Amino acid sequence: MRKLARVVEINSLEPILNADLIEVAVVGGWKVVVKKGEYQPGDLAIYIEIDAFLPEGNPLWQFLVDKSSRIYEEVKGHVLRSIKLRGVVSQGLLLPLINDYAAYTLGDDLTDILGISKYEPPIPAQLAGTAKGFFPRAIPKTDQERIQNLADQWDKIASKSYEVTEKLEGSSMTVYLLAGEFGVCSRNLDLKQDENNTLWKVAIEQDLATKMQLAFGDHIALQGELIGEGVQGNIYGIKGHKFLVYDIYNLASGQYLNPESRRLICEKFNINHVPIEQESMDLPPETSMATLVDIANGKSQLNPKVKREGLVFKSLNLTGERTSFKVISNDYLLSEKRK
Ligand code: AMP
Ligand code: MN
Repeated sequence: MRKLARVVEINSLEPILNADLIEVAVVGGWKVVVKKGEYQPGDLAIYIEIDAFLPEGNPLWQFLVDKSSRIYEEVKGHVLRSIKLRGVVSQGLLLPLINDYAAYTLGDDLTDILGISKYEPPIPAQLAGTAKGFFPRAIPKTDQERIQNLADQWDKIASKSYEVTEKLEGSSMTVYLLAGEFGVCSRNLDLKQDENNTLWKVAIEQDLATKMQLAFGDHIALQGELIGEGVQGNIYGIKGHKFLVYDIYNLASGQYLNPESRRLICEKFNINHVPIEQESMDLPPETSMATLVDIANGKSQLNPKVKREGLVFKSLNLTGERTSFKVISNDYLLSEKRK
């Protein structure tokens, strides 16, 4: 689980041009606009990430609930979003580590203690489906870590080579062939076969079971993004639905296929693949996180009229652990019409 609220150290403070009352606090890869003088470098503070749902009633953030609120899981509260203040991007909320919280230390997870959850936009019934079971244990979930949370491992991350693909704004979908059984999963659930469920419909329309069987025999999972009508606002404006693969997982060996084999197999078996931004991008050790956040801005390859959601980086050397992370475009976050 993501630590949506945690104790952090303020790395530094940066002035904002022509602003006397506010400044920018830097925490790992995140930048947050704060009251000037409220924090000093090295101070501990509580950092709450964007997409956190802050339930009403806590005086620490009631001012935000009063400013803008929505109901989520039957509770009124505020969803933390990226905003721009005096021309600078501010992401998340910083709170002083005082009173009830003074005893916590660096790295402590305060998500549950503060009653915070991750806001997920409502899912239409055709996408949600009915559960047959939990997400299969043998298959990794499709979640990606945000680059901004990787600041403390940055020297390991820069200095590798990556496949860079476009991050699509849709719904996570996994199809698997395991011991002769074909299954379709959403982000967190194994779904019952159902002709009214969009994920199942697309899997059948695109004949994925046959293609997987031909390509691999058995013990394989395709993971990709479902986009189209009714999915996350269909920002690409496409008709119908499309499933585009971004990962293939070998359930016999417990490993992802390397990006090149994945792309070749998709091409050979006529399976859609997410747009490739770069097949191999070498990140020199001195690469800054800010550079990558910057190149995440751009147009979508699926529809050049719209801003892309961002990029996903996957390391190429598959000996050892795979490193992968998402870089969401700040341009996109700031422009997004929020669901
Ligand atoms: P988020 O949508 O912010 O929760 O980020 C993680 C999700 O991005 C994954 O669960 C995938 O469903 C989705 N995703 C979209 N495009 C890609 C891509 N090119 N590579 C990997 N994941 C992707
Ligand atoms: Mn998404």
